[in-house]
Amino acid sequence: MDIKKIRNFSIIAHIDHGKSTLADRILEITGLVGEREKKDQYLDKMDLERERGITIKAQTVRIPYKSKDGTTYILNLIDTPGHVDFSYEVSRSLAACDGALLVVDATQGVEAQTLANVYLALDHDLEILPVLNKIDLPSAEPERVIEEIEEGIGLDTSNITLVSAKTGEGVPELLEKIIKFIPSPKGDPNAPLKALIFDSWYDPYVGVVVLFRVIDGTIVKGQDILMCSTGKKYEVIRLGVFSPEAVDINQLGPGEVGFLCANIKELKDARVGDTITHPKKPTPKPFPGFKKIKPMVFCGLYPVDPGEYEDLKFALEKLQLNDSSLFFEAETSQALGFGFRCGFLGLLHMEIVQERLEREFKVNLIATAPSVVYQVVKVDGTILEVDNPSKLPPPVEIEAIKEPFVKMEIHVPNEYVGNVLKLCEEKRGIQKDIRYLTTSRVIVIYELPFAEIVYDFFDRLKSVSRGFASLDYEVIDFRPSNLVKLDILINGSPVDAMATIVHRDKAYYKGRALALRLKKVIPRQLFEVVIQAAIGNKIIARERIAPLRKNVTAKCYGGDITRKRKLLEKQKEGKKRMKQMGNVEVPQEAFLAVLKAE
Ligand code: GDP
Ligand code: MG
Repeated sequence: MDIKKIRNFSIIAHIDHGKSTLADRILEITGLVGEREKKDQYLDKMDLERERGITIKAQTVRIPYKSKDGTTYILNLIDTPGHVDFSYEVSRSLAACDGALLVVDATQGVEAQTLANVYLALDHDLEILPVLNKIDLPSAEPERVIEEIEEGIGLDTSNITLVSAKTGEGVPELLEKIIKFIPSPKGDPNAPLKALIFDSWYDPYVGVVVLFRVIDGTIVKGQDILMCSTGKKYEVIRLGVFSPEAVDINQLGPGEVGFLCANIKELKDARVGDTITHPKKPTPKPFPGFKKIKPMVFCGLYPVDPGEYEDLKFALEKLQLNDSSLFFEAETSQALGFGFRCGFLGLLHMEIVQERLEREFKVNLIATAPSVVYQVVKVDGTILEVDNPSKLPPPVEIEAIKEPFVKMEIHVPNEYVGNVLKLCEEKRGIQKDIRYLTTSRVIVIYELPFAEIVYDFFDRLKSVSRGFASLDYEVIDFRPSNLVKLDILINGSPVDAMATIVHRDKAYYKGRALALRLKKVIPRQLFEVVIQAAIGNKIIARERIAPLRKNVTAKCYGGDITRKRKLLEKQKEGKKRMKQMGNVEVPQEAFLAVLKAE
């Protein structure tokens, strides 16, 4: 393969700006995916991804493209995940590219993740080719958005392409610009083999599949390879490219992108970011290695039916095969019985996992409210990481509690800046910067406790900005805060799964709001139910649910049997997610009440 004829690039964009649609259009226009097998969003493999419109696993396609100059080029389109929770994966996939198409929605403009992605691309020295999408829409404002890209990002827009990924307009021109402006890879065919792993996943039939880009040297089917970080050796059993289906190939040289199978049993032996080399002639300069991604958000997952514990365990193990950032370990709760403490990269990641467990594995779950990780400095000087509020040591043993802080960048139109500042202040934010992207759009930068955004921040931001604000964040450090544990007691017994860690200034308010909220979601029982919120031994709120037999069919006098049955069925549905707590029945909602008790 002539290295000068290869172009390796990604598409980067803020969510919903049309990355997947553009990828589909490129596949179609180059003839790689014919009408027959054309599905919307070919690159988003899982149903769930299609529904949510995001890409979780990076997926790469090799596209032969005959340019107007008559030469056939190889375009390697590397699809990257589009969400902050997966930014490490984005960064690794970009490392395999020489350029990136920066897609900006012409009806929206530059958003927080547009900028975050540009920074990542610049970190990897990529050539950035701006693309203005959705120009078929009447609300498109190309001039305004081009100005935002010029002035807000500081990107040269002289080579910008106006496209409609939906209709295909402008996409042929874009393909020509990819050839013209994105540099071909550099690499030494005679140097020792050096290849970067930028994605890997577990396949039940072939074991781990590794996606890589060759930097130097050549990889040949049947040869031995060495993984630099683990020192483990394997034989390349299968070598190929996705185009878009798997096609076997005998060797791949510098600049080429492909996959290999080598009887690798576990994902941790083929980590994204690791270097593949030759065992006898290893590269002197492997990549710095992968970053161990630490889960930042935790919650408890319990089967509604204790008999489904093994099913849940099996499902988590299965999911973990393909998601090395998912963490779980067995946990027992007095309130909920046997279950698992699970760790996620962020909130979206958590939602996706919960949904897949229920949808693909059909387990009925009770999820506890998410919590961040706290660093507890004990009086004896040791540091304890606490990801479960009920595991906080007693106050006498605690010297200090540190909580994670994020740096958050919010993009918002002028008129909503006031609302956004107010929200950030309310969430204990520290203002770092406010600047104008253009005359009408503002970038607000805050440092905020991660715990404050885990709750309802995204929804609140949407509502105070009428949906016009966008955000991007990253965890930066741990800082000491005045935090206390807030306990919930039901009929005198603390419910471990409802404990939360809160700032002392907000504890009273939160305790009262939570008790009230629980009163609303816990149905009346045959006996009185007392709900209390407490800090240590001090009760700070008390609510009472009067006893009453709730007979739902009482209203259906006469013989309307179908209606009666429907009601009974509905009641049964509602019961599914009830958990018996002592003798009190508590619905799933109650465990998430903390999220809404503001
Ligand atoms: P992604 O999140 O960046 O991958 O965005 P998608 O490709 O999923 O697109 C988000 C939405 O915008 C989808 O509903 C697409 O159908 C729509 N969309 C994408 N490109 C265009 C376009 O050029 N014109 C119009 N009218 N809609 C588009
Ligand atoms: Mg997408």
